[in-house]
Amino acid sequence: MLAPANHVLAGFTRGFLCRRELARILAETPLAASILTIDPAALKLQGIDVLALDFDGVLTPHGFDAPLPEAEEWLTRCVPFFGADRIFILSNKPTEVRKSWFNEHFPGMRFISGTRKKPFPDGLIKTGELAGVPQCAILMVDDRLLTGCLAAIIAGAIPFYVRRPYVSFKHRPLAEWFFMLLRTGERLFIRFLTLL
Ligand SMILES: [Mg+2]
Repeated sequence: MLAPANHVLAGFTRGFLCRRELARILAETPLAASILTIDPAALKLQGIDVLALDFDGVLTPHGFDAPLPEAEEWLTRCVPFFGADRIFILSNKPTEVRKSWFNEHFPGMRFISGTRKKPFPDGLIKTGELAGVPQCAILMVDDRLLTGCLAAIIAGAIPFYVRRPYVSFKHRPLAEWFFMLLRTGERLFIRFLTLL
């Protein structure tokens, strides 16, 4: 069993190696980027066949059990273009209550679990195997540069950086502040690394 901090360490070490690519993503992503700025029809035209979606920050604020209604509506719009069986949830927190929500509302969508946490590419590799597509046909949507976006770079998938994540300071104030600091910290870290 791996130590829980292994994926954090990998974020820093592999983030260093991929710093230029991460800096490019950071520079090119508009401040308003979220799932709602993703047009599923345009993605298909760009050759994306599979969506790999992070959960916290991307479909909901931190710690929610189900996607927000507007995220649910966006998922519904994605289904005709990709098919529910080509939409995967790649969260480092695939809880049972979240899985059962998807089983009820989007039965074809699958959680990837039992793999090493992002930024290890294992979850994306499993996604590619299950969907039968090359990594370049997978869009990894994540609000973290050093976890999901980095995993996509390592795997050869296409990263989409959610620069405007969902947050709810009412629901989980401590967790949201922590993750806000983490997101700001990793942006500073990447900008600093590119000076080296
Ligand atoms: Mg997240």
